Amino acid sequence: MVETSQKKKMYSIVYQRKRISALLPENPRKGICRACKRSRAKGEITQTQLHHTSYAYSIGTVKRNPVLAFENTVETDYPCHRIFDAFREILDKTNIERVVGVLRVLPPSQQEKFKEIAKRFIS
Ligand SMILES: [Zn+2]
Repeated sequence: MVETSQKKKMYSIVYQRKRISALLPENPRKGICRACKRSRAKGEITQTQLHHTSYAYSIGTVKRNPVLAFENTVETDYPCHRIFDAFREILDKTNIERVVGVLRVLPPSQQEKFKEIAKRFIS
């Protein structure tokens, strides 16, 4: 008998608005936001979430193999999760010309903030 499954526990995640549970060898949540490093253990945040950088599988595929729901995830706190969601929207689903078109009609103050973000990211 293989003993490896004895240490696995059930963890859940929301995948395309469906709650999915799977047996995993360890907790995918460590309690630290990967982006801003705020920590549950230090009392800086009360919870973390797993953000999907992309949805690589159909919901049917994930329901048949629930472990897949945990792929392509980043642990994050709520404020950073909102930013991750915005970037996924911009980077996954939208063509570049559409994004540039939107940037061109943003108020100047938002355009300047975007330029500052891009500058800091590149350097
Ligand atoms: Zn964060």
